[in-house]
Amino acid sequence: MITKILKPTTYALNKAANLINDGELVAFATETVYGLSADATNDDAVKKIYVAKGRPGNNPLIVHLANKKDIKKYVKSINMLERKIIKDFMPGPISLVLKKNSLVSQIVSAGGDTIAVRIPQNKVARSFIRRTHKPICAPSANTSKRPSPTTAKHVFDDMNGKISLIIDGGQTDVGIESTVVKVENNEVYILRPGKINEEMLSSSLHCLVHENVKVGSKIESPGTKYTHYKPKCDMILVKNNIVENIKKITKMSQIRVKKL
Ligand code: AMP
Ligand code: MG
Repeated sequence: MITKILKPTTYALNKAANLINDGELVAFATETVYGLSADATNDDAVKKIYVAKGRPGNNPLIVHLANKKDIKKYVKSINMLERKIIKDFMPGPISLVLKKNSLVSQIVSAGGDTIAVRIPQNKVARSFIRRTHKPICAPSANTSKRPSPTTAKHVFDDMNGKISLIIDGGQTDVGIESTVVKVENNEVYILRPGKINEEMLSSSLHCLVHENVKVGSKIESPGTKYTHYKPKCDMILVKNNIVENIKKITKMSQIRVKKL
């Protein structure tokens, strides 16, 4: 398969929507990272995402929609607090876990009865989704475990030959995945951290917001079980006195650094 990269023209967005409706995969830019998308109602198309990424089948995908009013088409119910999250934070870098109805493929929810829904802030992303007339499931457009792509070139270098099309929306703004949240007993649980944090949620929602929900506790985000963001080389975390410490480290390991 030849992977094309196209700028987000009307032609490219229509082509992308047609590919999605033909059950193919398309990578596109959101405000967080590039997503690898498929029609969330088509089992065979959704399977292709797991194959292209080498993603474990028990790690669910986020469902991307163009408009708030579309959410109710794919979920069983939305309570008051969930409505407020949608009103205050969407479109934006947040995904809300809700009980799914039968329109969305079971493969998207990894066999479970919930889906995480998200409305991207990126206008090109929404325009693409709108043109498909479908709910669009999309994890980050990288091989499983590897860092998430923030440019079309990152996606191409990782996914060339595995997907049909990349819509080049330039560099993404946020650079990390969406915050994943869930409501239980009128309290909010952050299942995966992101740009929208505990402080922002609690000051706007005026309710208890729990962060650092650990894997193994009752509420969890399955994707946090797995290795994430694994670069191909050894990494050293430098917290304080960055320049001084990098000098020491490079001296110790005899790495030559031309410019600090
Ligand atoms: P990504 O592969 O980076 O797009 O991550 C999607 C992540 O969202 C998954 O790995 C889960 O951690 C989380 N997620 C998606 N759907 C659900 C769900 N139904 N319940 C809980 N977490 C979910
Ligand atoms: Mg990812």
